[in-house]
Amino acid sequence: NNKRKPFVAGNWKMNGNRSLVESFVASLDSDVAQHVDVVICPPAVLLSSFNSASFSLGAQDVSAQDNGAHTGDMSVDMFKEAGCEYIIVGHSERREDHGESNALIADKAKKVLAGKLTPIVCVGEPLSVREAGNVESYIAEQLDALITALSVDELAKCVIAYEPIWAIGTGKTASPEQAQDVHRFIREYFAKVDEALANGLRILYGGSVKPDNAKTLFAQADVDGGLIGGASLKVEDFISICQAAN
Ligand code: PEP
Repeated sequence: NNKRKPFVAGNWKMNGNRSLVESFVASLDSDVAQHVDVVICPPAVLLSSFNSASFSLGAQDVSAQDNGAHTGDMSVDMFKEAGCEYIIVGHSERREDHGESNALIADKAKKVLAGKLTPIVCVGEPLSVREAGNVESYIAEQLDALITALSVDELAKCVIAYEPIWAIGTGKTASPEQAQDVHRFIREYFAKVDEALANGLRILYGGSVKPDNAKTLFAQADVDGGLIGGASLKVEDFISICQAAN
């Protein structure tokens, strides 16, 4: 569907420093982002070092609370003030390292939307689930929490990222067919809620996207771009992945 604008987000995770920020600001010009929404999600402390009109900023996680006694956490309003337009919620590393549940992730997405920012909601199965042939029911359960907590209008403002856990940081990319199968499933799942919502929803693929595999992944009918980990730390690689989404 060519009505959906391609979207590429880089998730730096706990990597990078000011000199990496400078190289991105110097190299990522507005040509790259002409037909693609380009977002960089650096560690929160680096957000204020970015000053560029060529791409948008995002956060990697956020609290589901507004403010208060939550040591180490940061709120939607704080990220908004720091210049973020997007916030990743439910990354598998948050789910695994911090025990985040589907319900908490749905709460976070709702909070992000209430602050008028866009949540990038991650879903994806571990290898054991794929090997057992249970991918669709596993993803459905992750989506159900979101569909229960959010209105159709709110769901329409989300970006979904399908990130099979076995493909994250492993160099084992899902094949274009494997990605497309799950992306189609996700879109059809949302179509049961609302057809127009499903048609407009941007669904990103994440998991070892590199310059040499980006084009075939992004060419799949229901793949609208990517969430990029490792390759988003090298400015030339990230640019060529953005160009592949063009
Ligand atoms: C990610 O963590 O969102 C990711 C997709 O990482 P990588 O590209 O390194 O597999």
